[in-house]
Amino acid sequence: MRQKRAKAYRRLLHHYVLHYQFREPYQVLIDPTFAEALVRFQVHEPLKQLGSVLHGKVKPMITQCCIAALYDAENHARNELQNSDEQQTYKQAIALAKTWERRKCNHKETQTAGACLASVIGEKNQHRYMLAADDVQVRRSLRRSVPGLPIVHYSQSVLVLEPMSDVTERHIMHMEQSKSALSIEEQRILQTPAFSPASTNANAPSQPAAPKRKRAKGPNPLSVKKSKSAGKSAGKAGGLPEGSAPSKSHAIPAGRSDTPSQSYVSSISHPTSQRRRNKKRGRGSHSTVQ
Ligand SMILES: [Zn+2]
Repeated sequence: MRQKRAKAYRRLLHHYVLHYQFREPYQVLIDPTFAEALVRFQVHEPLKQLGSVLHGKVKPMITQCCIAALYDAENHARNELQNSDEQQTYKQAIALAKTWERRKCNHKETQTAGACLASVIGEKNQHRYMLAADDVQVRRSLRRSVPGLPIVHYSQSVLVLEPMSDVTERHIMHMEQSKSALSIEEQRILQTPAFSPASTNANAPSQPAAPKRKRAKGPNPLSVKKSKSAGKSAGKAGGLPEGSAPSKSHAIPAGRSDTPSQSYVSSISHPTSQRRRNKKRGRGSHSTVQ
């Protein structure tokens, strides 16, 4: 086998091993036409040849229906064709097939080789079979329907491994995509609030920051209390801006505080206006304490 072809086969086999977990010894299902070809091409060591193409140890297998097909062909050659050469070929093929492991297919009525192999391999080739077939129809139908099925056949006495089928390539691509995608469980975990990156960023800074600032305004009422005593001078001046602005620092926050809350304004205006009334009546500021 040429170096280039051997390298291509090794790479191809690597894909089957990687994506479909093929393991040595590779189970190779052999159809009647391939058994016949082994005799016709006088292959002395079929296992060695299969092993060199598939780059590993092989375990040849033949189904009950496939070996029955060889017996039928031998009978046909003897009785109807009366061709002794043909008969000898099938006899040798049967003798060879007997050395291989018999795969029980449990078909009560003997199926054609193609139908039997299709049912044994199944839709997904879950038992990791390889197929050695020379029948064009059998190869074509299984190549198109089963992903992950390596197929070997003879091409003018040269044993070749078929390139990867379209079905297999698409299947591998699909498996790769589903591997990289998140599983349902992973998606569910990510959707919970604790793991959501958006919610952690939004909740963490806003909740502690907003109340702290509100509480920071809390001490302001203390300055309002002091302004009660300072209110006398403001009252004397008769107006807030002239008397209070330069000397009393307490009056400035009180003046500012009319925007944030109404309570500040009322607490300031109440005592001052009362004091004015009290002074007019001649009473002291003591009464405001009560
Ligand atoms: Zn069968």
